[in-house]
Amino acid sequence: MAIQPANLHWSGRRSLSVVLPVLNEAPSLAVLLPNLAATLARCGVDWEVVVVDDGGSDNLAEVLQQFEQHQGHCNVQLLRLSRNFGKEAALTAGLAATRGDAVLCMDGDGQHPVELIPTLIERWRSGYDMVAAAQTTRAHESALLGWCKRRFYGFMYARERYVIPANAGDFRLMDRRVVQALMRLPERTRFMKGLYAWLGFKTSIVPFRAGERTAGESKFRLRQLLGLAALGVTAFSVKPLRMVSVAGALISVAALCYGLYIMAETLIIGNRVSGWATLASGMMLLSGIQLLCLGVIAEYLGRVFEETKQRPLYVLEERVDHSALGQGAPV
Ligand code: UDP
Ligand code: MG
Repeated sequence: MAIQPANLHWSGRRSLSVVLPVLNEAPSLAVLLPNLAATLARCGVDWEVVVVDDGGSDNLAEVLQQFEQHQGHCNVQLLRLSRNFGKEAALTAGLAATRGDAVLCMDGDGQHPVELIPTLIERWRSGYDMVAAAQTTRAHESALLGWCKRRFYGFMYARERYVIPANAGDFRLMDRRVVQALMRLPERTRFMKGLYAWLGFKTSIVPFRAGERTAGESKFRLRQLLGLAALGVTAFSVKPLRMVSVAGALISVAALCYGLYIMAETLIIGNRVSGWATLASGMMLLSGIQLLCLGVIAEYLGRVFEETKQRPLYVLEERVDHSALGQGAPV
């Protein structure tokens, strides 16, 4: 008998859970939820939506109520975190609550087009375990920034055994077994792009163009983006530590050569009391490099500190479960 990929064994109707991490996105959700319901119904899957309120302070409950009244059934699980834990933690909370045969993660701000969902489901049905949507061009992102990002990823993760695509983020569909594997990764510093890539599995990439937000503005400020970049580097690569060692070695070799040169100069030409400018600037340069290297090491130490505390990733304040997929299942 021919061996088939595990997820080709299924027959009949399959179910899909959609995870939406949201932070004050009520106006966008009011538009997104009916769209999502209509699209999923057309795709012929049983579905549920898991909305994770990441410490927001808007009228989300009201929006969900209106959605329920409009649909006649709600089919939504609402998870309320006790405060804002960040998108990655909210996503993880949502993933843990899903029950579908596959899970689709998307933003709640309307930037991820629901029109792409049938394609994602189609790829999953054709046997892919993970279907990632990759942004062709980011809104408001210059060509130069895009190029820098690609270079950065290419350099940082070159020669790893897995590839982290620069532009495929959290908008992706994962088979249940991928979700199970993802939930088994225990780290607190969740660089999701890296985790998805590390997992492996048969993956397909679908390009898409992100839309504008339905309402509100991006929750990620420049400071958070820089933090995310630092996380991406230190959570997934020890390359900076190696670069510190290489820099140390190179500077030592340069210092040795310069020392030999000064020795030769003194022996051949005679001793001249000069070079204080070289000394001063050399010392300043080296102190700068040393502090930079300490900073890199401290960044890793900080990660180790976070991990050793073993705190949960998020705290759930409330769970309201109206999902049809969960009927009869313990909450
Ligand atoms: N988000 C969240 N917690 C946060 C920040 C963001 O749940 O601390 C949600 C946000 O509501 C949205 C998604 O994550 O649904 C993506 O955030 P945003 O649109 O601000 O990011 P961008 O699209 O600018 O990368
Ligand atoms: Mg957005």
